[in-house]
Amino acid sequence: MKIRYDCSKCPGYCCSYDRIEITDFDVRRLAKHFDLDFETAKRRFTRQYVKKSEKIDEMILRHRKDSVYKSICMFFDQDERRCTIYAARPGVCRKYPEEGRCGYYDFLKFEREQQGDDEFIPSA
Ligand code: SF4
Ligand code: SF4
Repeated sequence: MKIRYDCSKCPGYCCSYDRIEITDFDVRRLAKHFDLDFETAKRRFTRQYVKKSEKIDEMILRHRKDSVYKSICMFFDQDERRCTIYAARPGVCRKYPEEGRCGYYDFLKFEREQQGDDEFIPSA
């Protein structure tokens, strides 16, 4: 599959999604990576997102305030604009964007061409 996006030129929009759902398997991988027990890793790195009216109950990655987006995954390096735990990242991050294109990257590329500025970051 031909890859038509370049994450190194993107400020990490997908890592700013509010709900990055992870599994117990992902927590075990994070625990191993940081040499922690499962419960400590779960408490430190995740929180529960619950919306009863829509029957949603998900374990998601914690966020921090970000200088580009409203907030971003706690594992994102905000200076380098990249993941700090690439080898231990959750399954959902490994799969994304699941095809050769990334919608946000197409949008970013188009806006940058329009502005004539390779570093332009449109408000998402
Ligand atoms: S939004 Fe797309 S281009 Fe940007 S980091 Fe995520 S996958 Fe890469
Ligand atoms: S774990 Fe890494 S790839 Fe996944 S959302 Fe966080 S910073 Fe992004």
